[in-house]
Amino acid sequence: MRPILSRRTGRVALCAAVLASVLSACATPASHHPTLPSDLGVASTASALEPSLAKPGLVTFRRIRFATWTGGRGSFIDRDDPRTAAVPAGTEEATIYAYVIDHPTRGRYLIDAGVSAGLEPQLNWVMRRGLAEMNVRIAQTTAAWLTGQVQPRGVFLTHLHFDHIGGLIDLEPGVMIHGGPGDAAERSWTNTLVGHPADVILRGHGPLREWAFRADPDGRFAGVLDIFGDGSVWALHVPGHSPGSTAYLVNAIDGPRLVVGDAVSTRLGWDDAMPQPVPAAARADAETSAERLRRFAADHPAVEVFLGHQSRAGQAEAEIR
Ligand SMILES: [Zn+2]
Repeated sequence: MRPILSRRTGRVALCAAVLASVLSACATPASHHPTLPSDLGVASTASALEPSLAKPGLVTFRRIRFATWTGGRGSFIDRDDPRTAAVPAGTEEATIYAYVIDHPTRGRYLIDAGVSAGLEPQLNWVMRRGLAEMNVRIAQTTAAWLTGQVQPRGVFLTHLHFDHIGGLIDLEPGVMIHGGPGDAAERSWTNTLVGHPADVILRGHGPLREWAFRADPDGRFAGVLDIFGDGSVWALHVPGHSPGSTAYLVNAIDGPRLVVGDAVSTRLGWDDAMPQPVPAAARADAETSAERLRRFAADHPAVEVFLGHQSRAGQAEAEIR
């Protein structure tokens, strides 16, 4: 038997239902920028990736630090989940990184894109207000970092959130941009509210080339791609933080590196396995992906892990230049 609602409870339920339908009617995609399947990447498996870890590395790898902000802990761990109850209130320092890969024959690629001074003036007032509250301190812009550098041929995105892609504004329009499937198409009313920053950032660039993941028959990740077909750089599909969230395994000359993006962005998420705040429909995927990454790292202790927004304990901070 259905419970009988009081008049007040009934009004609240009616308001919630009306609000939910209004919000879902306002839902728009994260980006209207054109997409196409990436022409890079050979579908593979976790068990094909593993032997590559022991081979001599082919590429160089560097992490670059672009900016730092301070955020309430609740923006990094799910305060509605009882597992986070013992974590005291407070703030976390978060850093915006990008990574440089130099391949001997394929050239230079970035993982994520840093920050651009050209972004903030193009954002709507909701986003500008949010940025002001984040107290973002820019150490250097992508444009400044690029001065005197070999220009990248392409960028591999961990996902399409503005704090990972902003520096695309400073890159040449011909640079090819690759990222996970479904990030542009992800619909939410918050995209409408914040004015589609990904569209602002991608304007003038070619299509977003989405990784053509296929289910990993080993079941270790949602998908595994050998990006150049030579075992040097791998894309791992780790959905949850966003539908297309992608981690990158880089077999560098000085050892294998795993860039996990915001699949796990903080030490609380990695060391203490604290769940991150994501919509209810994405929670199971987010936990599965984080657990898969932690298990992979535990099975392969030679792999150095790079979290989305913090250094791990004892890890050298990234260079600025
Ligand atoms: Zn993110």
